Amino acid sequence: MELTRDFFVCMDCGRRFPDEGACKQCNEPLLDARKFEVKKACLDDDDRRKSKRQQRLMVISVAIGMVLVTALQFVLGEWGALIPGFRGPLGLIGYGIGVALGALAILGKIFPAERRFPWLSSDQLVEPSTPQHPGGDRYR
Ligand SMILES: [Zn+2]
Repeated sequence: MELTRDFFVCMDCGRRFPDEGACKQCNEPLLDARKFEVKKACLDDDDRRKSKRQQRLMVISVAIGMVLVTALQFVLGEWGALIPGFRGPLGLIGYGIGVALGALAILGKIFPAERRFPWLSSDQLVEPSTPQHPGGDRYR
């Protein structure tokens, strides 16, 4: 999505409005999303939310992996020896990591991190150009 209208954004809810002022939803002051600093703040905010979500899913996935593999070791008992490297604590860690990675991939698909600013992508983040020679007209 490209930012072509409704340039004023609320950092709290991500809604955009055509005019300056306050957000009609949360009454927060609106920021001009055409500005570099505002775009950067929005993207950073989305990134933070995404990594927070990822961390939470990781903890859940590791728990799922450990619980599942422990339960399976218990249920299979001696039959677990038929699966290479499955029995014992190393089996728990190895197979647990495998299950955790699978669970993480599935959970990431089911619960993707929602972006507050989906209309913004990092390729729109162009650093404002600074003058190449700040006192250059001194020689004119
Ligand atoms: Zn708002």
